[in-house]
Amino acid sequence: MKPYTIGVDVGGTNIKLGLVDRSGAIAARAFLDTKSFYGSKKKLIDVIIGAVRDLIEEKRLASKDILGIGLGLPGPIDSKRGIVNFLPNIPGWKNVPLKSIVQKKLHIPTVVDNDVNLITLGEWKFGAGKNYKNLMCMTLGTGVGGGLILNGALYRGEGFVAGELGHMPLNEKGPDCNCGGSACFEYYVGNGYLLKKAAKIFKNKNIQLSDVFFLAKQGNARAIEFWEEAATHIGNALVGVVNLLNLRLIVIGGGVSNNYQFLGKTINAVIRRRAMKVQAKMVKIVRAKLGNDAGIMGARVLVKESIRER
Ligand SMILES: [Zn+2]
Repeated sequence: MKPYTIGVDVGGTNIKLGLVDRSGAIAARAFLDTKSFYGSKKKLIDVIIGAVRDLIEEKRLASKDILGIGLGLPGPIDSKRGIVNFLPNIPGWKNVPLKSIVQKKLHIPTVVDNDVNLITLGEWKFGAGKNYKNLMCMTLGTGVGGGLILNGALYRGEGFVAGELGHMPLNEKGPDCNCGGSACFEYYVGNGYLLKKAAKIFKNKNIQLSDVFFLAKQGNARAIEFWEEAATHIGNALVGVVNLLNLRLIVIGGGVSNNYQFLGKTINAVIRRRAMKVQAKMVKIVRAKLGNDAGIMGARVLVKESIRER
């Protein structure tokens, strides 16, 4: 069997690429800035293809040594046909047959899926979710994503768009969301909202979330309270998930999860208090393990799965 797979994790801010060897280690990596390619879909695709070629050459390999490429993108994807429906945070993408474009140029089998699905697969097979059958992976960042492993398989839903945790309404009424709904969970814990709130509380419009984390670490009461409030929103959203799905594990990843030491206790407390007893007792909440590598490792899982199905 060919030993190598390539994972490409396309985010709204940057693109992470990794070449994974037979042992499952990432043998070569690359980072690209997504924003420089906003507005030109063709440029973005070309730059990804170029970066994949560079990774292969860097290790003195050829296309035939690569088992497959897995691409994760932030938006609804028809993973069966390899078509990107659209990308809410990267302009210019609509019904793009990305799988066939990449395959034609590189002559390597290619699979395309939602980025959070790849992260979920990575954490499930190689990270915090190893050996679990029922879990959800939540990513907290600019957007709030969710990926589901149910009965030991990724759950995609009828139109491949299941797991939109960030667009579960947290209240009956509330601010309009980009998704077309209102009072969405993402509105209350997405980076944009947290930054605005932090700027107000700390009277500094340039404040970063890492600054609020630093303040909390130093024992600043308002900073600690800031994270506890975010954790309360997260806990409330998860109560519904826990009651509905009776999961064994919830993995929390994404940039905001760097503050897990100020989030975990409150999230757990809200779930214990508000979720149904049987479900609450069974579920464990943990921090993701793979960080930026989750999508690259998940791509390996997806590539191997698709080869088996063929
Ligand atoms: Zn929404």
